[in-house]
Amino acid sequence: MFRDGLPVAERVFRNHALRKYRCRRRNVAFDTKGALRRIRHAVVGDDRVMEGVLGCTDGITIWIMEEAQTHSEIVSTLIHEACHNWCHVRGRPLSCRSEHICMMRVGERAAVCC
Ligand SMILES: [Zn+2]
Repeated sequence: MFRDGLPVAERVFRNHALRKYRCRRRNVAFDTKGALRRIRHAVVGDDRVMEGVLGCTDGITIWIMEEAQTHSEIVSTLIHEACHNWCHVRGRPLSCRSEHICMMRVGERAAVCC
């Protein structure tokens, strides 16, 4: 997504931000470098701590749970977690709920994250 689908995802996130926060286009920014950095530095999380979720992020680190995941699930989870804190309005990330709405509009199926 960060390579091929970026224009579509940016449009969806930007339009959502413009409507929800009633801001100007120049107030919406994307931290793609940060998202890619979070993917590159993702670590395996402890399933006992985050039971029932596939991934989690604090905006800096992405944790991928050990719970049996296929390659495709791992990739989807990494992209999902990287989309958190990717779009900013006036320097602040969208709400988690807004991010999930945008991810669904881009085509993601229901994700399990914390
Ligand atoms: Zn999420």
